[in-house]
Amino acid sequence: FAKEQGRNTYRFFIPSINVEVEERLYLETDLRQALNLEQFMLFYQPEFNLHTGKVECLETLLRWQHPKRGIVGPGEFIPLAEDTGLIVPIGEWVLQEACRQVIAWREQGLPSIRVAVNISARQFRQSGFIEMVFRVLKQYGLAAEWLELEITESFVIQSAEHALNMFKVLRQSGISLAVDDFGQGYSSLSYLRKFPFTKLKMDRAFVKNVVNDPHDEAIAAAIIAMGDSLGQEVVAEGIETREQLDTLRTLGCPCGQGYYLALPMEGPKMAEFLQRVTGDSPAVLRAFRK
Ligand code: C2E
Ligand code: MG
Ligand code: MG
Ligand code: MG
Repeated sequence: FAKEQGRNTYRFFIPSINVEVEERLYLETDLRQALNLEQFMLFYQPEFNLHTGKVECLETLLRWQHPKRGIVGPGEFIPLAEDTGLIVPIGEWVLQEACRQVIAWREQGLPSIRVAVNISARQFRQSGFIEMVFRVLKQYGLAAEWLELEITESFVIQSAEHALNMFKVLRQSGISLAVDDFGQGYSSLSYLRKFPFTKLKMDRAFVKNVVNDPHDEAIAAAIIAMGDSLGQEVVAEGIETREQLDTLRTLGCPCGQGYYLALPMEGPKMAEFLQRVTGDSPAVLRAFRK
């Protein structure tokens, strides 16, 4: 019986593996052509000052408009792009497109807002990364102070000395540096002090339970206090409800981002949003008035 079962599992297992491998190959072939076919696009999601309602920054979020699959989110292709190295040219495109868009908005008379670009470890380790960033800024005529790079906490922890020097060069040029998904990696205070980060993005796992779980509320409070004492701006990620917003404001969290405040939007919609609210979040303002 055991043998039979084993055989059944065996028969069941192999085809599903093949489907996965095949699927990945198709995806990889498509991904290799996506840049040339101009299938990538950026969405923008604002980060708000939770006390004034002002937009402080726009985070760029990459999307892939696949001819058959529709809009594909980064979770589905960034890991493959990293494995294949395709993230390097794709990441350069993201930076170019972000700079191009900010300048275009400025020319339309919209207020200048800092733009944040997600950088994966693979890009950061690629030689010539810093030179590429400076070259793109120059190409589009965007001053470094309008650019922020987001690096995940797990990468920061792994990379130590070499990364530290790169962070310093970037920071000295005026570029802002944010630690993304902060709080999950058990970062120590000492390395946070050593690295020139300007912002901590509190992982949305803490925001999710900040209303009901005293433990997560305590962690959120600790991250806010840490940012405060180290002079780093704290942004709570993934605010989805009024209650979460209220709790975070009560805890003194300076900034926030999330579906409750504003969804990620395509360029033209983002421009409309900025024009309509002149950079203020209706949800934050409602909470402000309560
Ligand atoms: P991230 O940088 O932490 O970005 C935040 C993610 O949370 C985004 O997902 C955003 O759409 C989503 N989000 C925003 N507000 C809420 C909310 O209230 N609730 C929930 N549940 N989610 C919210 P997205 O766009 O799917 O991006 C996922 C991840 O992919 C990003 O996480 C980032 O690590 C990566 N990524 C996105 N764009 C790029 C890129 O251009 N380059 C690289 N290397 N990575 C990127
Ligand atoms: Mg991010
Ligand atoms: Mg994040
Ligand atoms: Mg994340």
